Amino acid sequence: MVTKKIPKDHFVINITKEILKKRRIVQSQEDLCFHVLNRLRKYDPKFVLSPRRVKNLVIKIPNIEIKAKTKKMPKMTKLEQCPVCKKKVDNIYGKNLLNKKIHIGYICRRCGYTTDLEALMPMKYLFLWKNKNKTLFSK
Ligand SMILES: [Zn+2]
Repeated sequence: MVTKKIPKDHFVINITKEILKKRRIVQSQEDLCFHVLNRLRKYDPKFVLSPRRVKNLVIKIPNIEIKAKTKKMPKMTKLEQCPVCKKKVDNIYGKNLLNKKIHIGYICRRCGYTTDLEALMPMKYLFLWKNKNKTLFSK
């Protein structure tokens, strides 16, 4: 029986930043997860990671822009309150490939809870590194 280990958020975030900074663009959340997990397993082969978790952490990284490609227009599932701490949640926006702003999920500014609309809406994501010095050390 192999024990699995869940890497800490900040660890995943740091490795994701390194990868995006180097590669500039990653074409899907599965690709991104693959690269991050590869790196994580050099520290501990028992680490596990899901593509959705990586993406939900990326949402919190100001240097990384997420572009989402959808076949249909997003259907709104209303989430009013954070399920963790009950604070009102904010919408998270991304851009689609035409640079149009689209609603992709929710974030709680108090506890950091994030969720996406993917359950309703299968999407393909692009992850882009934004080279802006002023935000480099903000997270
Ligand atoms: Zn919360």
